[in-house]
Amino acid sequence: MRKSLLSIVSAGLVFSFCQNVFAQESAAPIKRCASMEYRQWEEQQDPSIKVNRALIENQMKEYIESNKTTPATHAVITIPVVFHIVYKGTAQNVSDACIAAQLKVINDDYRKLNTDWTKVTQTGWSALVADCEIQFCMAVRDPNNAPTNGITRTSTTVAGFGTNNSVKKASTGGCDVWNRDKYFNIWVCDIGGGILGYAQFPGGAAATDGLVIAYNYMVGSAGCGTSPYNLGRTATHELGHCFGLYHIWGDESACAADDGVTDTPMQGPEHYGCFTAGSVQTDACSASSPGTMWMNYMDYTDDACMYMFTAGQKAKLVATMNGPRVALKTSNGCTPLTAVEYLNYNESISLYPNPSSGEVTLNINIPIISSADVTVFNSLGETVISKNSVPTNMETKLDLRNRPEGIYFVKIATTEGSVTKKVIISK
Ligand SMILES: [Zn+2]
Repeated sequence: MRKSLLSIVSAGLVFSFCQNVFAQESAAPIKRCASMEYRQWEEQQDPSIKVNRALIENQMKEYIESNKTTPATHAVITIPVVFHIVYKGTAQNVSDACIAAQLKVINDDYRKLNTDWTKVTQTGWSALVADCEIQFCMAVRDPNNAPTNGITRTSTTVAGFGTNNSVKKASTGGCDVWNRDKYFNIWVCDIGGGILGYAQFPGGAAATDGLVIAYNYMVGSAGCGTSPYNLGRTATHELGHCFGLYHIWGDESACAADDGVTDTPMQGPEHYGCFTAGSVQTDACSASSPGTMWMNYMDYTDDACMYMFTAGQKAKLVATMNGPRVALKTSNGCTPLTAVEYLNYNESISLYPNPSSGEVTLNINIPIISSADVTVFNSLGETVISKNSVPTNMETKLDLRNRPEGIYFVKIATTEGSVTKKVIISK
C-alpha cells in the first residue's frame, strides 16, 4: 500500500514541507518505532551482540521446528513487569491508573482478550489470530525482596532521552535496570524526537534490556495517550520486538525480506493510518486477497487499527520464552512476600525513638498478618514486657521508663517466624 504522509516525513524526504504541515505542533514528526535503528546502533557499539543474536535466531528456529507438532496451547506464561517512570515535571509522572491501564492492554493483546480482534474477517486471516498465552503481572517484590507495587519513580532533569539508553541508567538521569532475568523492564519517559518507543531484541546487554515508551503514547482514556496512538499498542508492538518479532514488512519495501514468520504475508512498506475493518489491502508483494496484514501489531497502523498476532508470531514468542528469556518463567517477582520475609525486611518494623529515654513506639507494618506477640527482654534475658496479639499496622507503646539504662531486645513473633530488634534506653 502507498506510504502515507507520515512515512514520507519519517524518511526525511520532504523536510521543509513537513515543517509547514506540523507547524502547529512544536513536537517532531511522529516516529512510530525506533527499534531497528536502536538495534543497529547497539550492534555497532558491541559487535558481539550481533553474533549472539545470530545464534539465538538459529536456536529459536530449531525450537519452533521441533515443537510444531505439539498442541497449539501451552501453559500460560506469566512475566513479572516493572515500570520505571522517569519524569521531568508532573505531566510526565504518569499515574498508577495509567500504568494499570497499560498493563491491561498488553494482557488483553497477548491473551487475545482484546475485543477488536473479531474485526479480522479477511479470508485466511481470521483463523490465524492467536492467543499468545503470555501475560504480565506487576512485580510485588523488588530485587532486594522488599515489597513493591512494580513501579519506580525517578525525577530527572533530562528533557528528551533519545534512544541511547540514558533513561536506563541512574548515572545519566534515568533509572537502573532491575535484573532482567527476573523482571521485564519498561521505562516510561520523554524520549523526544517524536519517537513513540524502542525495544531491545533478545541477545542484548543485561543492563539495558527491556523497552522504552513515551509517557504520552500509552492509554488515552487513563490520561497518558495521544491520538491516534492512544490505545496502549505502542507497548504491545515494542514487547513484540523484545520477544523476538520483527516488523511484518521485514524493514524493506521490496519483496526480498520479510519477518521470518511463515504465516504472515510478504509485504512492501509499512502501513500508517487506518483501514476499514475487514478490507483487503494489496501491494506489490501481496497483490491478491487477503493482501497485506495491515492489522498486525507489528505493522505501523494506528492503535485502533492493529489487533492481531498470528499463530506463527506466537510460535516465535514462545520460542523466546523457552530460549533467551526462559529465566523469566521461574521468576518470583510476582510472588508476594511471606510473613518471614516481611519480618526480615527492615522497614516492616519501626521502633522509635532509638535510643529512647523510655517510651518506645513500635509499629509492625506487615499487611498480610493482623497481629503479633511482642516480648521485651533485658540484657540478662529477663522478660520485662510481654504483650500478646499486638495489632499490626498501628502504633503500640512499649513503656520502659522505669527500667534502667541499657540495651533491650524486642522480639516480634508470628506463627510463621520471629525477629528480634535492639533498642537502647538512655536517660
Ligand atoms: Zn517496531
